[in-house]
Amino acid sequence: MPVAEVLSVGTELLLGQVLDTNCQFLAVELAKLGIDCFFRTTVGDNKQRIKEALQTAFNRADVVITTGGLGPTADDLTTECLAEFFQVEQVFDDQVWAHIQELFKHRNFPLPESNRKQALRPLGAQILPNPAGTAPGIIWHVSPELLKKASVANPEKDRCVLTFPGVPRELKAMWADTAFAYLLKRYTSGTMWSIELKHYGIGESALAEQYAHLLEGSNPTVAPYAGTGECRLRVTAKADTIDGAKIIAQPIVDEILAGSGQRCYGFDNDTLESVVGELLVKGGYRLSVAESCTGGLLSQRLTDIAGSSRYITLNVVSYAYEAKVGLLGVSPVTLEKYGAVSPECAEEMARGMLKLGYADIALSVTGVAGPAGGTEAKPVGLVYMALVTKDQCIPRTLQLGSKAGRSEIRFRTTNEALNMVRLFLLNNLK
Ligand code: AMP
Ligand code: MG
Repeated sequence: MPVAEVLSVGTELLLGQVLDTNCQFLAVELAKLGIDCFFRTTVGDNKQRIKEALQTAFNRADVVITTGGLGPTADDLTTECLAEFFQVEQVFDDQVWAHIQELFKHRNFPLPESNRKQALRPLGAQILPNPAGTAPGIIWHVSPELLKKASVANPEKDRCVLTFPGVPRELKAMWADTAFAYLLKRYTSGTMWSIELKHYGIGESALAEQYAHLLEGSNPTVAPYAGTGECRLRVTAKADTIDGAKIIAQPIVDEILAGSGQRCYGFDNDTLESVVGELLVKGGYRLSVAESCTGGLLSQRLTDIAGSSRYITLNVVSYAYEAKVGLLGVSPVTLEKYGAVSPECAEEMARGMLKLGYADIALSVTGVAGPAGGTEAKPVGLVYMALVTKDQCIPRTLQLGSKAGRSEIRFRTTNEALNMVRLFLLNNLK
């Protein structure tokens, strides 16, 4: 298998003004192709240092992928540096120039002379088309003679370089249209198929431990990834056809589904909120939530799902005692005796929500989001929830810890709340 190196070019990246999201995108995509990436380098818009970085990258990688520095201005140096590094001329590509002229005409902009630079490519390099902007990249399968001239280690070994502009939208379009298929064809035989199994309620290391025997496999490969409050296992199989790859992956997917049970909540683009939505639709239930502490975040996540008005009827964000009493019917005695952050208040909030008559399931959240306001008895990160139906009440207490920041406490609370509804539905839907 080939080894890739990603070279991000741009002084703005070194200064921290722009986050290198291209690098992350490429890392994920290269993993899909089964191409290892051992090093990533970031270099500023400086000719000498870009050439140094190219030297290092070609010495230790088979595929060098650059992003940035393809624009029309003087600090866009990537193509020029590649041509100089391999000591070849730059040639003017009439077709690219025609494409650039067309784009400007279409946008009704005058075309600056400096844009001619974007039609240059090193002699011997192919154009990597850019369907989303002016600057195309190149795909260059570098000959052993040129590698030798540039003093690259092991020049007889096959090398190629792909260049992309810095603009993430353009890079992604070029990747999807051309580069992915090119690398797939060139470096892997057949095709790949992968599926993500999303987990909640189990950490990455526990997941890796449970499936340690699968992580060593090569076809399919199984890899764990940690997300915010969730974990994913990606199963990737290779075969001559997509269907063939699916058949190879299936037994492993089945094994994980059986081993994880309800801790596996979905696949690929599923989210806790989308899965909750599907289950509510399936059961024909309507849900209402009453939030303190999470300030509407739970409501937002639930209604982020298109079509959620089929099952989300009324949500309330209530902070003041009067609102809890007046709107949700929480007893003033309960508030006086136990406080707003208490299991008693959580239960009464949920019961009040149900009583309003807009839902079959009501869920409440009340807690201390911090960073101030915690006490010894009720520290920051303490959250009470209750899920109520006409004949059940399920309470739940979370201790999220005072070290978690306010937004993390709120987000994790919504994860727990969504998961609580999910588990309730899974276990009560028949
Ligand atoms: P360039 O192709 O170097 O002219 O970059 C064009 C724009 O893309 C820059 O102004 C940045 O905002 C953005 N950009 C450049 N490199 C990256 C990167 N590695 N990740 C995300 N955005 C980038
Ligand atoms: Mg730049």
